[in-house]
Amino acid sequence: MKVEEQKVVGIEYTLFLDDGTVGDETDGEPLYFIYGEGNILPGLEDALKGLKVGDKKTVSIKAEDGYGEYDEEAFEELPLDFFPKDVEVEQGMFFALTDEEGNHVPAIVHEVTKKAIVMNMNHPLAGENLKFEVKVVDVREATPEEIEHGHVHGPEGHHH
Ligand code: ZN
Repeated sequence: MKVEEQKVVGIEYTLFLDDGTVGDETDGEPLYFIYGEGNILPGLEDALKGLKVGDKKTVSIKAEDGYGEYDEEAFEELPLDFFPKDVEVEQGMFFALTDEEGNHVPAIVHEVTKKAIVMNMNHPLAGENLKFEVKVVDVREATPEEIEHGHVHGPEGHHH
């Protein structure tokens, strides 16, 4: 069975950044997704089409097609009392902020000053050219329910 639309695909991968360091890896727990649902980076999804279980592929994705270019403007100052009092906000912490449209935007604490908490809204991998070394470990038919929900069910996926 080949990787194509409406198949559940399991992959193992290691993501290498420009400087050769590992940015992310599945580390023995494969990532499962429904092919064609846009659950993973589009460039990575495209490159997997037609592969079979056991196939390996190296996929290079430029920053602009990955997590975007680093945006020097994507910083926001929040008042010191923005977060609950019992949360001790420190540089490097992640928070999900909510934008005007109600979307959750992951952000990292860039700096805590006497006057404000400065959040960096860039994705942690923004500006990085990505190199995925991927191995396909599973391909199966998606169930009608999975297709309706747009995510994988079962032990490897989403639980209701
Ligand atoms: Zn579901």
